[in-house]
Amino acid sequence: MNSTPETTKQLTYLAAALKAPRVLEAATRLATQARDNNWGYEEYLAAVLEREVSARDTSGAQIRVRSAGFPSRKTLDDFDYDAQPAIRNQIAGLTSGAWLAEARNIVLLGPPGTGKTHLAIGLGIQACRQGHRVLFATAVDWVTRLTDAHRAGRLPTELTKLARYPLIIIDEVGYLPFEQDAANLFFQLVSSRYEHASLILTSNLPFSGWGQVFGDQTVAAAMIDRIVHHADVLTLKGASYRLRNHDINQLPSIKAQKVAD
Ligand code: ADP
Ligand code: MG
Repeated sequence: MNSTPETTKQLTYLAAALKAPRVLEAATRLATQARDNNWGYEEYLAAVLEREVSARDTSGAQIRVRSAGFPSRKTLDDFDYDAQPAIRNQIAGLTSGAWLAEARNIVLLGPPGTGKTHLAIGLGIQACRQGHRVLFATAVDWVTRLTDAHRAGRLPTELTKLARYPLIIIDEVGYLPFEQDAANLFFQLVSSRYEHASLILTSNLPFSGWGQVFGDQTVAAAMIDRIVHHADVLTLKGASYRLRNHDINQLPSIKAQKVAD
């Protein structure tokens, strides 16, 4: 038996009231399937609700990915682990997302072009898919944002707002050195999240080089202490992935040089 016009009208109203427009479509479509296959009432209800929940998860994840400010969309699946075999197991251990629940951090270290930003984005997108809000920016951009907030007298408000994000990604620590004020603001960001919420940091410098970046060994040591207390440190190695298929001798400038010789 098909539904009466009254039931359809009522369903339209109820789906709108629940802000679940897909329930209406799923209810009608799945009712036919349920009748054809003799589903129980509970089975039918579960199927309808499942459609709505999975649609919400997907659109929620898309909104979180769009709001995160990623410079590009790179996923963990796009990563070629043969180029970085040493970290394959470490990444596999991070896919459950337990590190976010435990407010652990991830630090990606290595030379340029080895995939630090790629993995930071990939881990960020995965967090979005797992239901977490994420914000991505470079270290320089974070410092600008905090400096603006500080000047406007709303640094505490800003840090509280950021604390509501389970994951903040700070790309390119060490690319440029910080002024003392900037280093202090950065320290406050790290401290405000310590044991509460996760950070991913990437850097082309080993920790021993961070003192130079922050202009002060003591500030750098205190910060590194808080970051790595609960953290996975992934060290990427080797040559730039961008140049992997280029025999350095085949680069046009070097070829031209050889001909000239
Ligand atoms: P880094 O941040 O370490 O300088 P990126 O993450 O920006 O390096 O990587 C440079 C480029 O090479 C990006 O386009 C990235 O997607 C790609 N890349 C680097 N390593 C890999 C890899 N192992 N597998 C796939 N792509 C990679
Ligand atoms: Mg990078």
